[in-house]
Amino acid sequence: MSSYIGRFAPSPTGPLHLGSLYTALASFLDARHYQGTWLLRIEDLDPPREEAGATEKIIETLQAHHLHWDNAVVLQSQRSERYETVLENLADTGHSFFCTCSRKQLAAYPQGYPGFCRHHQTQSANGKNAAIRLKTDGIQQTFIDLLQGQQQLPKRPDGLTNDFVIKRKDQLYAYQLAVVIDDIDQGVNVVVRGNDILDSTFKQGYLYRALGHTPPAYLHLPVIAAADGQKLSKQNHAPAIDNNQALDNIRQALALLNQPMPPTHLNLPNTLLFSIEHWDRQYLSRDAWLTTADNVSG
Ligand code: GLU
Ligand code: ZN
Repeated sequence: MSSYIGRFAPSPTGPLHLGSLYTALASFLDARHYQGTWLLRIEDLDPPREEAGATEKIIETLQAHHLHWDNAVVLQSQRSERYETVLENLADTGHSFFCTCSRKQLAAYPQGYPGFCRHHQTQSANGKNAAIRLKTDGIQQTFIDLLQGQQQLPKRPDGLTNDFVIKRKDQLYAYQLAVVIDDIDQGVNVVVRGNDILDSTFKQGYLYRALGHTPPAYLHLPVIAAADGQKLSKQNHAPAIDNNQALDNIRQALALLNQPMPPTHLNLPNTLLFSIEHWDRQYLSRDAWLTTADNVSG
């Protein structure tokens, strides 16, 4: 690849924990190993799920671990105008429609969208109390994940579509919309992220097509679980990373990534240089879940 552009795109729902540091480190090492650019974007689109101060804490933790990014940090909360412009463009080109279905109406169709609102005209309907959905077509989507191999969108039962929400009824922009617009605008061409969002890749694929762009390459890492099998997350009280243990944390994340261990006498910057040089995708485990020892699950 001529000019690799990767990124780490955390949602500020809490401070980084070992599972998110592992994802950050993988995307950093992969980008740096291939002489790429590595960007930081804060996906602060969902205020009810965010925690005050989390953005600052994430930034501090990345800095304390010498995971230095290129260019200025992009905050999604500052990009509403751009998202609105793209939404207008999708409406004008017939790619989207207002959806006024209630949660109750949709509850009977957990496997897809039954298409009730497809006939609405985005221009004429009143969007105040409506979500906006992307109109998806029947094309069978596939992609080859750099780690997980060939992936195929599961077939929907007859009569159901993949039409998904790109602006929510509460008027918040959907993650799917923002992530695609930002990755396009930032020129991102390699995405390294957790396997828990692999399925979103298909939705994002529809958006790339609707916007006339080619999707990036993807590498979906196994998600780190605590010893009880739950994904490490704020919800299950994964402990925040201790910035005073940066070298240990990086070594722990490297072990989870199954990379060659740097000699113990190296300091943090040299540990990272060693790992950039020795980074190898082939050592990564494919498994959907990697379980940590009890001592790191808290
Ligand atoms: N913001 C998402 C998260 O924190 C990641 C989005 C992505 O990498 O595409 O789970
Ligand atoms: Zn609807």
